[in-house]
Amino acid sequence: MTDKLFYLHIKQLIFEAKIEESIKVKNGWKIRLDKTCFYPQGGGQPADKGWLDNVPVNDVQEEGDNIYHYLEKEPSGKEITGKIDWEWRKDFMQQHTGQHIISGALWKVGNYKTVSVHMGLDYTTIEIEAPEISDEDLMETENLANHIINSNLPLIFTWIDSKDAKKFPLRKPSPVEGKIRIVQIDDFDCVVCCGLHFENSGQVGLVKAIGKEKIRGNVRLKWKIGDRAYLDYSKKERMASQLKVLLSTSEDLVVSTIQQLKEEEASLKRKYSHLETQFAMVISDQLVAGKEILGNGNNTYGLILKSWQDEDELLIKKIIKNLLARKGIVFCLLNKSKDKFLWNIGCSEDLNFPFNEMKDKLLPLVDGKGGGTFPLWKGIGLKPRFTGEFLLKFKDLVGGLKI
Ligand SMILES: [Zn+2]
Repeated sequence: MTDKLFYLHIKQLIFEAKIEESIKVKNGWKIRLDKTCFYPQGGGQPADKGWLDNVPVNDVQEEGDNIYHYLEKEPSGKEITGKIDWEWRKDFMQQHTGQHIISGALWKVGNYKTVSVHMGLDYTTIEIEAPEISDEDLMETENLANHIINSNLPLIFTWIDSKDAKKFPLRKPSPVEGKIRIVQIDDFDCVVCCGLHFENSGQVGLVKAIGKEKIRGNVRLKWKIGDRAYLDYSKKERMASQLKVLLSTSEDLVVSTIQQLKEEEASLKRKYSHLETQFAMVISDQLVAGKEILGNGNNTYGLILKSWQDEDELLIKKIIKNLLARKGIVFCLLNKSKDKFLWNIGCSEDLNFPFNEMKDKLLPLVDGKGGGTFPLWKGIGLKPRFTGEFLLKFKDLVGGLKI
């Protein structure tokens, strides 16, 4: 049986102990000591981190009355010095104590029952048994929790037999029987819990609700607790300062300024799209005017070849739409970029253009691929240096086809 020093001396970070058992496991060793300050994973709280004789402790688990420390290496001696990582423990003591205060406040504000808790590395979540919580109730909960923190109430820890639990004003019944640990925050809250907590509510510092989401018909609340809330405030303050400079406005006007910018952007997009449609019409007319007449007798058609460099794809799409609506036209339009080009080949609906008959002679010239169905085919070419040859080859192949 391991002596649990962490319940007696919450701030003891260094301890001497004897190794009573060393077991080789898959990724190292599990070590049992006669006593330990290392809190094992449990009660929603992760295990302590730290070192045994400078060897990092990766995990701590409770098995019956024993506590096992998981390390990559076995400490050399039989007597070791253990050291707790205080930053890690303090963070999770803040999460845990803060969570008790928030759950107590949720109960006081609207009889919201906490059904599950998760203490993550970024934020802590509390799931309540309710399909919804109003913004007003959430704000009242946050205010009450911070009031309890500011009141610096004492936390009282009492080991009892579960038979005597009714003597305590428990917020929810004990989940286990036998020896249980009652955690009271003065007369504000009372639950059964085996985790690590501060001795005063003030040490939590601050809590801030940062969001809510629906899960399994309940609501899950996200919280920044303790130092995390201060760090989050600093981060938001930096962001607000940058936004003020970027938008040349005061903090109070940041949101309305962004709304105004978004409305202006939407209006400009509408205007731009309208102008682009008109521009596409002008270019389409120019291309049609410059077409080369191929074929003979009554069987003639116009050929359009065009190559752009880094042109707007949406503009080209609109030009293609215009060209497809004309009669008697075959076209090949290219849009070059640094290391590739996009090709579009199409024809008017009144023509019978057999693209598939020329495909295998045309595309290998530029390591090209792609396809489509009448009257439009499109794809990519990986040799933009050969777009001139590509267009000439296209013209040559079109001349040999029966259209
Ligand atoms: Zn607890």
